[in-house]
Amino acid sequence: MNVYDAQRMVDTLQPHGFVETASADDADLVILNTCHIREKASEKVYSELGRLRVAKDEAARQGRRINVAVAGCVAQAEGAEIINRAPVVDVVVGPQSYHHLPELLARAERDGRALETEFPAEDKFAFLPPPKPDVIRARGISSFVTIQEGCDKFCTFCVVPYTRGSEVSRPAAKIIDDVKRLADNGVREITLIGQNVNAYHGEGPDGRIWSLGTLLRHLAEIRGIVRLRYSTSHPRDVDETLIEAHRDIRAVMPFVHLPVQSGSDRILSAMNRKHSADDYRRAVDRFRSVSQDIAFSSDFIVGFPGESEQDFQATLALVTQIGYAAAYSFKYSPRPGTPAADMQEMVSAEVMDERLARLQELIDSQQSAFNKAAIGTTVDVLFERAARNPGQIVGRTAYLQPAHVMAPETIIGRVLPVRIESLERYSLLGELATPLVAAGETMPAHISETRMGA
Ligand code: SF4
Repeated sequence: MNVYDAQRMVDTLQPHGFVETASADDADLVILNTCHIREKASEKVYSELGRLRVAKDEAARQGRRINVAVAGCVAQAEGAEIINRAPVVDVVVGPQSYHHLPELLARAERDGRALETEFPAEDKFAFLPPPKPDVIRARGISSFVTIQEGCDKFCTFCVVPYTRGSEVSRPAAKIIDDVKRLADNGVREITLIGQNVNAYHGEGPDGRIWSLGTLLRHLAEIRGIVRLRYSTSHPRDVDETLIEAHRDIRAVMPFVHLPVQSGSDRILSAMNRKHSADDYRRAVDRFRSVSQDIAFSSDFIVGFPGESEQDFQATLALVTQIGYAAAYSFKYSPRPGTPAADMQEMVSAEVMDERLARLQELIDSQQSAFNKAAIGTTVDVLFERAARNPGQIVGRTAYLQPAHVMAPETIIGRVLPVRIESLERYSLLGELATPLVAAGETMPAHISETRMGA
């Protein structure tokens, strides 16, 4: 979401004469777009601000002004403190207010500093200018689109309900317009994003409330869109329309990110996740009942306050049972202001380290087995860009595995079958399974020669 938000900030500033620079040293304005989910996020912000202070002082000596803005969830959570602690900062803006950036910059110019971390009454998306066609093309064939923001779940470890506010879904017609504009300018894959994306309940153009499944069904009809993804889902909000979308719509990719955090009901309850481990297993089963091809990724927290070895064993058992294609796992760290931050039974750092290592070993072995299973098969790959190796093009499989082939750049933006021959770390290597027929799609000479030599 921060990648998407950063792009939308660029879209907001472009009509005011700003262009992106390759380096912060060349910029008149530097925005730090921050995330509060990871540990030590605010310390990282302050150390980055220290570096920017040096650049700002140097620019001032040369008679040039650099404005510094802090955006995102750290700005939302700690805005006043940032203003107090970091004189280098000119503007602080929360994630719901970045459409106000031009006027905040003007206010900072006038008053010295500007801070906005209130949740505005208006919908920021209504005020964001659409990206220009050349900008969309430059960003590539895959794009994020926010459909929902905020969260009403209040997991005890999480800051999102406080930094992003309560759940708000965008009207479906606006999302359809956004996706059409992206598709018209070369985008082939859309990832719908939201903190709780499958809680989506936006107003449809028919006046009814649309679910995520209904929205996916309509987006799949947009010409040019060949792949649809969504992230991040909550197990409790998996409804029948979503399952049916996976059953019926080819463009909906069979790769579901479904965080569970823990396999222990006792810990899930302490986390206020509002589901049990069996509820989660049932949600996975519902997806698998419509397609055995669906693979899962997840998020895990180890060492949540009070987690016993028995609780952790329940997490390992759940991972073993589900079998993941990938997963993210982290040691618990308290976020100020969340209920879990006041919990007493902290798990020691050594125990957390040891549990995280065991969990990651299990997840790595599952991911490795999943990737190895692709060798010898033919899979569809959506090609994204030229790879670093000359002559190679890289794309993604349905399961987001990077796949490299030797091919001309004309295949970028197309889904083509690839015979997978080998695996190099997390990347699949293969060759196109069908010959290219369109004009200009012959192999570059040096590639053909290499092939002949082999
Ligand atoms: S559902 Fe996700 S975003 Fe919402 S509070 Fe829980 S962890 Fe945070």
